[in-house]
Amino acid sequence: MSSEQSRELNPYENALKQLSDTAELISLDPDVHEMLRQPKRILSVSIPVKMDDGRVKNFQGYRVQYNDARGPFKGGIRYHPKVTLDEVKALAAWMTWKCSVVDLPYGGAKGGVICDPKNMSISEKEKVTRRFTAMIADFIGPYRDVPAPDVYTDPQTMAWILDTYSQIKGYQVPECVTGKPISLGGSEGRSNSTARGCVFCVREAAKVANIPLKGATAAIQGFGNAGSWSAIFLSEIGVKVLAVSDSKGGILSRGNGLDPRRVLEHKEKTGSVVGFNGTEEISNEELLELDVDILIPAALENAITAKNASKIRARIISEAANGPTTPEADKVLERNKVLLVPDILANAGGVAVSYLEWVQNLNRQHWTEDEVNQKLEQKIVSAFKSVLETSKRYNVSMRSGALAVAVQRVADAIKTLGIWP
Ligand code: GLU
Repeated sequence: MSSEQSRELNPYENALKQLSDTAELISLDPDVHEMLRQPKRILSVSIPVKMDDGRVKNFQGYRVQYNDARGPFKGGIRYHPKVTLDEVKALAAWMTWKCSVVDLPYGGAKGGVICDPKNMSISEKEKVTRRFTAMIADFIGPYRDVPAPDVYTDPQTMAWILDTYSQIKGYQVPECVTGKPISLGGSEGRSNSTARGCVFCVREAAKVANIPLKGATAAIQGFGNAGSWSAIFLSEIGVKVLAVSDSKGGILSRGNGLDPRRVLEHKEKTGSVVGFNGTEEISNEELLELDVDILIPAALENAITAKNASKIRARIISEAANGPTTPEADKVLERNKVLLVPDILANAGGVAVSYLEWVQNLNRQHWTEDEVNQKLEQKIVSAFKSVLETSKRYNVSMRSGALAVAVQRVADAIKTLGIWP
């Protein structure tokens, strides 16, 4: 890989590039820009775990607390063999902008543990989670920093965090984490809220681009929580989901498209979408370049880069993943008039319902799924409108518009707070 390419693929470099472009666009105070170039705090811990074979393995874990001017730090924890500190820093910066753009009273943070959860037993995952939680316990909490699920972590992981944190405190603290199981104070609607928000964004974008959704076609890269539910919700509103993929490969069904619920059953049984009846096998690269109306990258960073951006044929992209498009690729997509709803807006449904969960916990309430979904829709649609309006005002892409709204709000908070001492 050339050094230019490896720079393009460094998420933190990309987050900084987005920040400096935004600083220029909104004439950001240089002092605030200086502060926002680095996270406020980085926790780096090594997590010893006695594995099932009796040997001890050390896992590297991070919690990056980027900025909390607008409220407690907030963001998920990711388990993945390719986690790096720069990745977690970028994800923490994006959480800061995400919470700001949907106007949640939160800052941004992210956690990551370098591990391969697919090759770990439940008990090994539980030990990693509990020890990691204990090691960062002094720095998290309902008014400090509230973790949530991300790639390869789930409600069970949050239950272990909740239990460990509560054991340390000596009393039950359900509001210390979101994305919990409902039986422990989790919110109705949280499990598929990222996808629900993403599909609200598709619907709003389709109005802007004048594309009727009934009969429109879609491809979805990644079939985890966000990708699989996006496929289900899209097909429920009449969109034909022609192709989906996961880390093992992709499947394509021309004509009427796939039944996403059945694909999900297949994946639960076999571990992959690949091999689903009556489909053609395609690669992740081919999926991204399909001739469809809507493309949802729902996997990891750097799916759309300078290398493949010019081959993207979708008219709308709604980013369910964090950081799936590099700034170089953004330029190409903009030139090609692709309407891209950026990650910090398109996948904000997850943290928006996390916020609703936290509010319910703090007030010892439990709302109905309809109530939650309505509040989610209202938050996403109103953020979509203000981003669209801002991007028109500056005559820039929705990504630049979203960053402009988000960074401005964080900057206003920082300036009003002042710097102490
Ligand atoms: N991990 C999710 C995200 O990237 C959710 C974060 C949260 O709910 O705090 O937005």
